[in-house]
Amino acid sequence: MSLIPIHTYPDKCLRKKAQTVTAFDDALASLTQNMAETMYAAPGIGLAAPQVNIDQRVVVIDVSEDKNDLKVLINPEIVHKEGAQDYEEGCLSIPGVFGVVERAAQIEVKAQDLSGNAVEFQADGLLAICIQHEIDHLNGVLFIDHLSKLKRDRIKKRLKKEARQSA
Ligand code: ZN
Repeated sequence: MSLIPIHTYPDKCLRKKAQTVTAFDDALASLTQNMAETMYAAPGIGLAAPQVNIDQRVVVIDVSEDKNDLKVLINPEIVHKEGAQDYEEGCLSIPGVFGVVERAAQIEVKAQDLSGNAVEFQADGLLAICIQHEIDHLNGVLFIDHLSKLKRDRIKKRLKKEARQSA
């Protein structure tokens, strides 16, 4: 296993719509292992493949306290959502930025496992928030896109300035 560099805003790889996974092979398994290791090391509770510049619909998530409940979702989609909840989100690709985002409270998710088998489950609370955040990544959407235009513009300005300074 090895760590993979996490790309940060405004990197273009974060804005691409990721490709559907069709090969359920060893390469996919080792990608998800490396993504999980990278997520735990960050530390974070979720990581989507576009964040490590991999153009595939792959997500790893672990919202448990003890970091022992890894979920690997291949080609995940939300088939049903209900209710609303607010949570202050952050993102490994936008370090140091936090903002309250409204998400669905309960979701029903359809995905595939590492062997390509269909899985379907329900989620609520932090897990539901995290899944919605990570699926956004697969569609090139970032949590700051859900903030008010005023807040978003302020954050973008700051991030662009920081990127210029570190370049
Ligand atoms: Zn994120």
